Amino acid sequence: MLSVILPAYNEEKMIRKASETIDRILSAEQIPYEIVFVNDGSKDNTWSEIEQAAEENPHVTGILFSRNFGKESAMLAGLAEASGDCCAVMDCDLQHPPETLVEMYRLWEQGYEVIEGVKRTRGKESTLHRMSAGLFYKLISKAVKIDMSRASDFKLLDRRAVDALLSLPERNVFFRALSSWIGFKTVSVEFDVQERTEGESKWSTRSLIQYAIKNIAIFSTTALQCVTIAGVAVFVAAIILGIQTLVRYFSGHAVEGFTTVILLILIIGSLVMISLGIIGYYIGKIYEEVKGRPRYLISRKIGRKEQ
Ligand code: UDP
Ligand code: MG
Repeated sequence: MLSVILPAYNEEKMIRKASETIDRILSAEQIPYEIVFVNDGSKDNTWSEIEQAAEENPHVTGILFSRNFGKESAMLAGLAEASGDCCAVMDCDLQHPPETLVEMYRLWEQGYEVIEGVKRTRGKESTLHRMSAGLFYKLISKAVKIDMSRASDFKLLDRRAVDALLSLPERNVFFRALSSWIGFKTVSVEFDVQERTEGESKWSTRSLIQYAIKNIAIFSTTALQCVTIAGVAVFVAAIILGIQTLVRYFSGHAVEGFTTVILLILIIGSLVMISLGIIGYYIGKIYEEVKGRPRYLISRKIGRKEQ
């Protein structure tokens, strides 16, 4: 059986549409399935929509979070609750075309364990957004050592891959990169990002920047190494300036030079502060991990559960 996991945050208009579309496509292909909606603490009628969808279609189940925990947690909760032999994760705004699910399922039947959806086109976006996304993926790709520039959260995972993912103890997860990191027999399928038909994107520029910083920090320590590199660069500059100062002193031109002093204080001061900030950020993440809080809290569940 295929479990389709759909994280939903304020998606009241999309729930029905998503479950009906997926039902139509998968039933036509005679693929046994279940749909797991994860309501990520929505503030609108998403939950009652899920309840109705579950009433109409016995294949639909739902999980309700006690508050908004974010898409990464919602995807993991869905994977933890799903009982299928393979699990697909997709956006419930149907920007990930459900037709591609069939293609992914067929590849799974051929023995692939991780089927990654990669974006052929990125859909409508501003140039700035595209450029910053490009930079972000360059950094992440370096950390994971896999090209992530076209990666998405649209994936189909075999039960073995799902169990491997769920066995990872960390709290801060970046699903998109982790699913490559776990390895397994992987293949990718291209898809075109569709336009959102209802509602709006949950991402503001600010939340995207936070998302990028968080994922770079939890997936790589490059930023910490930048601190060392900056330190070395400042040290080299200090030697050059030191020699220059000494030469001037001995040749008797030592009076002017306040500019250099001020510049040095400014440069070193700011570098030290930035470095402390980066280190502080990592310590914050370590603190979060050490606390060992659960990734999410479920307040209610609906739908059949035989196992
Ligand atoms: N989502 C979620 N929790 C959140 C934000 C988003 O579960 O805190 C879900 C949302 O309902 C959708 C998917 O994640 O199914 C992608 O969100 P969105 O369409 O806003 O992102 P975009 O497609 O613009 O990247
Ligand atoms: Mg979307």
